[in-house]
Amino acid sequence: MADDKTSSTKRDWQPETALVHGGIVRSQFGETSEALFLTQGYVYDNAEQAEARFKQEDPGYQYSRFGNPTVTMFEDRLKMLEGAEECRATATGMAAVTAAILAYVKTGDHIVAARALFGSCRYIVETLCPRFGIACTLIDGTDLDAWRAAIRPNTKMFFFETPSNPNLELVDIKAVAKIARDAGILSIVDNVFATPMLQRPLALGADIVVYSTTKHIDGQGRCLGGAVLGSTYFITKYVQEWVRQTGPSISPFNAWVMLKGLETLPVRVRAQCATAAQVADALTKLKGVTRVIYPGRADHPQAALAKAQMPGGGQMIAFEVEGGKAAAFRALNAMRLIRISNNLGDAKSLVTHPATTTHFKLTPAQRSELGITDGMIRLSIGLEASADLADDLNTALDAAYR
Ligand SMILES: *Cc1c(COP(=O)(O)O)cnc(C)c1O
Repeated sequence: MADDKTSSTKRDWQPETALVHGGIVRSQFGETSEALFLTQGYVYDNAEQAEARFKQEDPGYQYSRFGNPTVTMFEDRLKMLEGAEECRATATGMAAVTAAILAYVKTGDHIVAARALFGSCRYIVETLCPRFGIACTLIDGTDLDAWRAAIRPNTKMFFFETPSNPNLELVDIKAVAKIARDAGILSIVDNVFATPMLQRPLALGADIVVYSTTKHIDGQGRCLGGAVLGSTYFITKYVQEWVRQTGPSISPFNAWVMLKGLETLPVRVRAQCATAAQVADALTKLKGVTRVIYPGRADHPQAALAKAQMPGGGQMIAFEVEGGKAAAFRALNAMRLIRISNNLGDAKSLVTHPATTTHFKLTPAQRSELGITDGMIRLSIGLEASADLADDLNTALDAAYR
C-alpha cells in the first residue's frame, strides 16, 4: 500500500502542495483521488498477526473507532499544513474541544479560558468541567495581566479562540502561550475563525490547536468534523486514548470530504478574504451601519496584532446597525442572496443575529460584557462575487430604514 512517490512524511512542500498531495496512501489500484475506506474493521492474515496488531508490534489497523486509512490521510494532510507532530480527527469540533480538555485534566485541576468563546466551548469549561471538580476562571482574553492573575498552583490549561465569535476580538497568541509555557501550563487555541491558512498557533508557541473542520475545511456546508493537533506525546497519550476508548471518532466518509476540502482550502480562503475585505469596506458606507468590525481593516481595535498574527483579515465580519434588534431583523429579512443561518465557513454567504441565536443563552449582562449588542450582525463570507454581496446588503439596509 505504501506509495513512495507521495510520502506523507515529506515536510518541505508549500501549503498549497501539501494540501493536494500530503498524506496520500494509494491502494493496489493506484487511484488518483484518495480512496474512501468505508469499513468498520480489518481482517488479519493469521492469528499471530492479530496478536501483534493488538500489542502494537504490527502497525496496521484494528477497528475504525481507533483508526482508519481515510481518516489517517486526512489527519496527515492537516498535520503537514499545521506543522504539528500529530493530529487526531474527531466527529465534530465539539468532540475535538472536549477531547483536548477532558482527556488531560482531572478533578482538582483548574482551567483559565477567555470568556469570548463559542457557546458550546463555554459550556464545556463553565458548566461541564466544574461538575467533575475541575474549576474554571473566565477572563478577558485580550488582557495579558488577567491571564497572569488567574493562574493558580493547580492551573493546567489555558483555552481561547481568536478571532472570537462573533465580535472578532483577538487574543495575542504568542504572549499568552508564553505566559502559559513559563508556568508549565498547556495552551489550547480554537483556530476555527482564522483557519490554518491564516494563523499558525503552534508556530506562535501554543501547544494544542483544535478545529471544527465543519467550517472552512469542509467549506461547502456538508459534513461535521473536528481535529486536535499537537505533540506526539499529547495526542498519543491523551487524545488518541480518549477517542479510542470513548468513541467520538469521525466517519471515514466525513474525513474523506474534509480531505478533499483541504485541497481547495488555500484558493477558497484567499478568495473569501479578498471578498470580505471589499464587503467590510462597502458596509461602512451603508445606511444604518454604525460600526464594522473586521480584523483586516485599519480601524479594528487590534489592527496591529491582527497584522502580526494573521496574514489576512479572515472571512468573518461583524457589524452593528442603528435601531437594535428590530432594525437588525428587518435587515436580515430583506436579504435575498445572503441567507440566515447560524452556521459559518460555507461557500454560501451566511448571516446571523448572535444576540437571539448563537448567544441567546447568555444573560444580557454577559452579552454586554462580550460586546454583543442587539444591533450586532455576524456575516460569514462565501464564494460569491463581492459586488453581488455588497448589492444585497445595500438593498437590505435600504429596505430596513425605509
Ligand atoms: C463551530 C465551532 C465549534 C464547534 O464545532 P462543531 O463542528 O459544530 O462541533 C467550536 N468552535 C468554534 C469557534 C466554532 O465556530
